[in-house]
Amino acid sequence: MTVSSAIWRDQLTDTERATLGRGDGAIDDPRPDVLVVGGGILGVATAAACVQAGLGSVLLIETGRLGAGATGGATGLLIPEPHQWSDPEPFVDLERASLERWRDLEQAVPGGVGLVELDWIGLAPHPGGFAAHQPPAVEWLSPGQVEHFIPGLARPMEGALIRRQGRVNPLRALVRLAAGLSAVATGVAATGVTISGDRVTAVMTSAGRVSPGAVVFATGWPPVLDGLALDIPADRVKGHLLVTERTPLRLPGIVAPVATQIEDGRLLAGGTFDLGDETPDVQPGVIEAIMDGLVAVLPELRGLGVDYQWCCFRPRHPDRRPVIDLVPGLANAWLTSGHFRTGILNAPATAAVLARWITAGEIPAEPGTWSASRFSTRAR
Ligand SMILES: Cc1cc2nc3c(=O)[nH]c(=O)nc-3n(C[C@H](O)[C@H](O)[C@H](O)COP(=O)(O)OP(=O)(O)OC[C@H]3O[C@@H](n4cnc5c(N)ncnc54)[C@H](O)[C@@H]3O)c2cc1C
Repeated sequence: MTVSSAIWRDQLTDTERATLGRGDGAIDDPRPDVLVVGGGILGVATAAACVQAGLGSVLLIETGRLGAGATGGATGLLIPEPHQWSDPEPFVDLERASLERWRDLEQAVPGGVGLVELDWIGLAPHPGGFAAHQPPAVEWLSPGQVEHFIPGLARPMEGALIRRQGRVNPLRALVRLAAGLSAVATGVAATGVTISGDRVTAVMTSAGRVSPGAVVFATGWPPVLDGLALDIPADRVKGHLLVTERTPLRLPGIVAPVATQIEDGRLLAGGTFDLGDETPDVQPGVIEAIMDGLVAVLPELRGLGVDYQWCCFRPRHPDRRPVIDLVPGLANAWLTSGHFRTGILNAPATAAVLARWITAGEIPAEPGTWSASRFSTRAR
């Protein structure tokens, strides 16, 4: 049996699944202190942080069901340290701070957020190992040590070990965070805004007009709304993922770029970057290629079946960094968008920054790099 949807929903309890459609179509309080638009991980984490910060009544609206966008299809890896090879230091710092916040949330949220701490082993892409840049958090593994961790490799390979990274079922984390919100309306779309001076005075929705004190747009991409002229470039990058049948093979955690062992001995693999593929469908050829890649590294997986396969789109700005900022020209409206391949990881740190910013009314030190106007020719 192969299911063309993510495994994450099936791992929830019936009660948790039902909460993804909370408050269907209904807004009880049209004058909240804070309105959050978008029920992905960024919106839910931000709403939860606003509640935690004591910002008064917080309403979250979502056009579909909670987690229906990129969040529900993500791999859910929380791996700041390997990103030292690919991301600039200030961005890795945001990721590190956010993994710490995930750890805090695991303790603070009733029932936890489902954080699984696990090690990351990167297999060297070619003989001679990794690039010259050798981050301090890395333990280098000889081919013999790699073989000890991962028996059955097709050929000897060097490796890099980074301890104490993490993963979540992104939908479970979202559901647990959303449990602390008193006002959630799914099936409600924001359609437009009314602006007076430098303030949003109303947000038009499919369930009527909302007049918030402050508003945060966490819509994945910059929102397209009547009355809100935003000129922030963004596109999307499709990715495929699969989950195999149960296998007796045991991986020591995340083995990059091969697979991550998840519950029941299944393997989670993929996370492709299918540039130029705008179709919403799973491409069988991509799924086959992911499985072929698995078998090429671990031949004993030959014949293993695929239980789940899916694809979804990462929201992206041209420089692959998010926006975490006030909406240009406005004093009570914020935007976070374009979290690309690290939105699950970076949600708690982003949420904390936004909640602090709304509370203090002034810009916190961190988010300068993530400005909304960095793409404009006019500097801010
Ligand atoms: C294949 C793949 C693998 C990934 N793996 C990882 C990973 O391992 N680790 C990691 O950290 N990240 C990963 N990501 C990235 C991560 O999924 C995203 O960065 C993150 O989910 C973005 O969250 P979001 O809340 O900004 O957007 P979304 O989850 O897309 O949520 C935005 C929500 O806003 C709603 N919305 C939009 N417009 C409106 C409106 N007008 N009114 C009301 N609601 C609206 C949408 O319906 C949607 O539910 C991966 C992504 C993909 C595709």
